Amino acid sequence: MPRARAGLAPTGLRPVQLLSGHGAARGTALGRARVRLPHKLEVAEQRVAPTQVEAELDRLHRAIESARAEMHDLRQRLQGALEQAAGEFLDLHALLLDDPELLYGLDELIRSGPYSAGYALRLQRDRLAKVFDGMDDAYLKSRMDDLDHVIGRIHAFLPGNQPPAVKGMAGEILVCDTVAPSEMAQLQAQGVVAIVSAAGSALSHSAILARSLHLPLIVNAPHVLSRIVDGDVLIVDGSDGSITVNPQADNLRDYRIRLKEHAREQRELGRLRSKPSRTRDQVDIALMANAESLEDVTQAHAFGAQGLGLYRTEFLFLQRNELPSEDEQFQTYRDAALGMSGRPVTIRTLDLGADKADRTGLVLGNEENPALGLRGVRLSLARPKVADTQLRAILRASAYGKLRVLVPMVSSRDELLAVRRRMSRLTAELRTQGHEVAEHVPLGAMIEVPAAAIALETFIDQVEFLSIGTNDLVQYLLAADRNNEALGELYSPLHPAVLRLLSMVIETGQRHRLPVAVCGEIAGDARLTPLLLALGLTEFSLHPGTLLEVRRAVREADLGALRARAGKLLAARDRRGIERWLALTANA
Ligand code: PEP
Ligand code: MG
Repeated sequence: MPRARAGLAPTGLRPVQLLSGHGAARGTALGRARVRLPHKLEVAEQRVAPTQVEAELDRLHRAIESARAEMHDLRQRLQGALEQAAGEFLDLHALLLDDPELLYGLDELIRSGPYSAGYALRLQRDRLAKVFDGMDDAYLKSRMDDLDHVIGRIHAFLPGNQPPAVKGMAGEILVCDTVAPSEMAQLQAQGVVAIVSAAGSALSHSAILARSLHLPLIVNAPHVLSRIVDGDVLIVDGSDGSITVNPQADNLRDYRIRLKEHAREQRELGRLRSKPSRTRDQVDIALMANAESLEDVTQAHAFGAQGLGLYRTEFLFLQRNELPSEDEQFQTYRDAALGMSGRPVTIRTLDLGADKADRTGLVLGNEENPALGLRGVRLSLARPKVADTQLRAILRASAYGKLRVLVPMVSSRDELLAVRRRMSRLTAELRTQGHEVAEHVPLGAMIEVPAAAIALETFIDQVEFLSIGTNDLVQYLLAADRNNEALGELYSPLHPAVLRLLSMVIETGQRHRLPVAVCGEIAGDARLTPLLLALGLTEFSLHPGTLLEVRRAVREADLGALRARAGKLLAARDRRGIERWLALTANA
């Protein structure tokens, strides 16, 4: 990470500075800074005469209509450019604009004051902020940003207020404290080339959206608001989180070189689309894809993924008020199977809970420690009807391809026995009802709870494949919340305990002749490919966007040589030791 430093600048210009944050969406951009200081809805108390109440209600309703139209326009304009998860955030804002509690509350405030529409918005905003502040759940807490944004848009549209759109941002880099997802999409449509925010996390909805839109984003860059002024020229790099303020000739030269390198790399990677994922010593490595939507399935197919190693079904359940029906689920799983043209498709049963809270009422909202609570398979078993509906849909879809069922958050043999029993019963039931079900649908377990990794031998006879969920395994093993940016490197897969456990699970699985994959984010990090290969991994499941980079790393690797160095890797005593091993391997 670059340190902040000031340097010389041509006379009359502000000096160069190097700042840094956390790269949340890759890409490099050069542009003028547009600084936006934190905005609060500060509207002074304003009462109106009782005779004016109807007029104020009318202003409010017209503003809500305009905000709805803006949201609808944005959705249309960005159609096809968004991944499903990203598009859903726009839907969430649209839903908030229809939320009866929010709207009814506003009408009530205007009437009871009687207050102006603007002041009613402020009161309502402050009231909701108190409710959200009192919540323990970080995910729900962060939904206040969405609400703030929606209320801000209504306020901007109140007749008589300034026109809401910020025009003329072409070629600009927004520097702000936080940015709401739908606002960000709009900013890109107005020509913004990158965003730098003082706060925020790489796992936020805005970050997911930025990656989806290919808009470079840097978050958690604390000094930007005090060190950057409007009109400063910036170079931002969303990969390493570096921000060069008022670049000089050498910085500009570096930037142009980086751009050229990036273009060359993309061309090179493109050539790997139809190449095998085979090491230099001729060992085939299976690269499967993680998917959450049909768009991901399409990309996985296009990049030559050998199947889907993880289809996250909970995204079907988020951002809506009712549960998806058996038919809706069936169609989704069937389309995933068809999309992969006969290659294996691994459907993970519902992994709601913890940070993935739904609005259907399935997830309890009052758990003290939701990450340790009723999530994953525990929730499915506690809601048998919901589990049956999902399993029926998967089993019906199995007639259209090679489906496998993967169970998340397994911690004991009993959970697998329960799922297996349900699958047998439902298969028989479906066949009696005249449905076609594949002769055999393999059952697998996610290894993401340390207990499952350590006691793998106690249930391995009940599964036909394993998938290691390192995102959760790391958090549970190291007692470090995966969503807490403040923990920094405390949450890291480069810990001797993580590597030892991975090695143990891979070795146990292979001894029992079971396929073992890693499907956490580390599988898609090409810098760590040699490390996973050294530990004996032969199957990776990763976001399709990273597949070609990992394929390149596989093709550059000599598996025999890496395996011979596994002992040294496992002997590393800390993160630095593991990083040294990686550096030595890269230079070998
Ligand atoms: C994991 O935990 O590594 C995983 C792949 O699942 P998720 O990120 O959906 O929890
Ligand atoms: Mg997980």
